[in-house]
Amino acid sequence: MSDAANSSKSAGLPDAAPPAASADGSTPKAADSLEVIRKFAETYAKRTGTYFCSDPGVTAVVLEGLARNKDELGGALCPCRHYEDKEAEVAQAFWNCPCVPMRERKECHCMLFLTEDNPFRGESQTISLDDVKSLVAG
Ligand code: SF4
Repeated sequence: MSDAANSSKSAGLPDAAPPAASADGSTPKAADSLEVIRKFAETYAKRTGTYFCSDPGVTAVVLEGLARNKDELGGALCPCRHYEDKEAEVAQAFWNCPCVPMRERKECHCMLFLTEDNPFRGESQTISLDDVKSLVAG
């Protein structure tokens, strides 16, 4: 059997489940979402031949923002933009990561995925969960 049939589907994040409990947002899902987002970003960087930023703090903050949006909105809405209506944006999907500009032209204005010729790119396509957590906290 081939994985080809699944390739387009697996290009992005798995569909987000609706937020589990909801009210205060303090569910244990937060850590899970961060790990899901982190793994997605590593896989996607490798698949697209892009690299994380030379400043890992940038990578960590973007990953944390994506995970938070996934938890709060049910979709990994790009955290680097302002939205009048976040729920509507998630439904529209244009800015759900990987957003359309990234998928079509490898343009990531968050500097999460940087092309090889970008002067701000680092050498890495991986980042550990511990590093993300400590960089966001620090
Ligand atoms: S700009 Fe696009 S690819 Fe980059 S983090 Fe935002 S949604 Fe993801």
